[in-house]
Amino acid sequence: MKKKPIVVFDFDGVIVDGLVEYWNSAREACLQLVGNEKFEKQLPLIVPIAFQEIRPWVKDGWEMVLLAAELLRADSPIKYPKQFSDEYQTNCHEALKFWNWNPKQLQIALDNVRQKAIQKNKAKWLASHRPFSGVVDRIQNLNDEQIEWAVVTTKSTQFTFQLLNHFNLLPTLLYGYEGGSKPEILLEISKDYLIKGFIEDRRSTLETVLNTPSISWIPCYLATWGYLKANDAQKLPAGIQLLKPEDFMYPVADWP
Ligand SMILES: [Mg+2]
Repeated sequence: MKKKPIVVFDFDGVIVDGLVEYWNSAREACLQLVGNEKFEKQLPLIVPIAFQEIRPWVKDGWEMVLLAAELLRADSPIKYPKQFSDEYQTNCHEALKFWNWNPKQLQIALDNVRQKAIQKNKAKWLASHRPFSGVVDRIQNLNDEQIEWAVVTTKSTQFTFQLLNHFNLLPTLLYGYEGGSKPEILLEISKDYLIKGFIEDRRSTLETVLNTPSISWIPCYLATWGYLKANDAQKLPAGIQLLKPEDFMYPVADWP
């Protein structure tokens, strides 16, 4: 049987700009973990510049809780965001050691904060996420091209589902972090569908796909409207195309 065509989307940074919500939730989760009210005033309510600048390096949600904590530490390298991101993995590793935390507990803390925010005021929580301009309509139009679509994200499935539902978006498939790594999920999807494109705003994730033989054939697209690093759009390897908002509006068959 012929496989149905499908386009796979990352969520945060491709469909939704969740930066403000991420900061609020990461800040709250961090404050709960450090458990000291005096820290509350040290973390601003508006998104700090350092958090914004380092966002393109973040892969998993828990890292943002760690970044919030680092903003509390007087001698953290995060005071110099460029230097912090240059050695991002090492700095995160050191920070986990300093705080004596592990990724799993940070992710649980983050998910708990979200769960409570939804229970308290679901409308407010939903409204703290802004879909990128035109993206919702464009995805809905995929129907007209007889193309299915999927979401693969490092957010949890249930929160992503609630947001998609709120935007009237119902993907054929949805995988959160519980489903495994993005390459694993793409391989799984490719068993049943013909993947026409994987749209992501994290270049290194696309490079991983490209370097994974079983899925390296998947057309990879770097969404220019997401959280890109300064040089991400330059010197892209063959196999990764830049997808600008205007390209995205064309039928999938006409994408670069
Ligand atoms: Mg993203």
